[in-house]
Amino acid sequence: MTIKVKNLPVSEILCSNCQACCCSSEVMIITDTGVPVRHIHIDEYGSETMLRLDDGWCSALDRDTLMCSIYEVRPWICREFEMGSYECANERIEKM
Ligand code: SF4
Ligand code: SF4
Repeated sequence: MTIKVKNLPVSEILCSNCQACCCSSEVMIITDTGVPVRHIHIDEYGSETMLRLDDGWCSALDRDTLMCSIYEVRPWICREFEMGSYECANERIEKM
């Protein structure tokens, strides 16, 4: 049986055939994983999120490869966001 998420076979949902869809969503920084300060936005209440540029994409996204340029120190939320999950499929459907 082929497992499907939102009618897409899970085996066909790969970051390598995506367009970094989840990297234009708001990412809160809730633990210190070592994200470089230049990629952190701090709002008026002191909450930290990944800095997003004018086009909405995370400033840490490598625009040439559409891969994360700070993979080893990426925020906890990015680590937990699972390729092939329901949330991942939703992002792809919404943004690709
Ligand atoms: S986790 Fe999902 S939405 Fe994010 S880049 Fe990978 S395939 Fe795309
Ligand atoms: S830190 Fe990396 S994985 Fe997380 S949103 Fe930014 S580019 Fe994507």
